[in-house]
Amino acid sequence: MIKKKSDFCVLCGKLPPYGKKGDHIPPISIYSVAERTSARYRFNAVPACESCNAEGKVSDEVLKLFIGLSTGEYRDFQDELIESFGKTLQKNSRISNEFFESISEWFPDGGAVSGRKFGAVFDRNLCEKSLGRICRGMYWFMTENIYPNDGLIEIFFPCDQFYQSVSNNVADINVKRSEEVNGGTFRCNVFDFSGFEIMEMVFFGKLTIFANLNSDK
Ligand SMILES: [Zn+2]
Repeated sequence: MIKKKSDFCVLCGKLPPYGKKGDHIPPISIYSVAERTSARYRFNAVPACESCNAEGKVSDEVLKLFIGLSTGEYRDFQDELIESFGKTLQKNSRISNEFFESISEWFPDGGAVSGRKFGAVFDRNLCEKSLGRICRGMYWFMTENIYPNDGLIEIFFPCDQFYQSVSNNVADINVKRSEEVNGGTFRCNVFDFSGFEIMEMVFFGKLTIFANLNSDK
């Protein structure tokens, strides 16, 4: 459902929007089919141009795997999620080759308590692209302004050093604006953090990713 209208694509700010449906923010592909059809989930779309709409296809699929592996065991529809993983990997040979080649196993504490764990490497660039689109879309939802096309968006994953300093301070920071999407499954807040505008994205209550929005460059 599109809440508001815009004369320009809110993802690039350059071209007029294409079609009536717009682009889902967050991308609908990060949800299993069961989640997509559940009454507990709602989906927002932003006006987007044809090329922005098409651009998200591969990066959204990589983000889907990354978010799915980070949150899957906490979600209601685990079997459906695994099934939709399988479909993604079947459909896209480049993603599946990279994914399977990167899988490694390790034993965090020698296997005593945690047992065997598996890890996979994700294309950080593609994840950042997809998350950048989410930031632009959420920015428009929250401010009704299109995020500047040349504005920087820096993404911080839990493995990044800067991430720790943000997450340690976020509780003390004054919440300027907040938007909850999808009945708590995806939450997005913007904080002032030592002169930065930090967006906090919480996926399915389990995975938090921060982004530094720096529209002044
Ligand atoms: Zn566009």
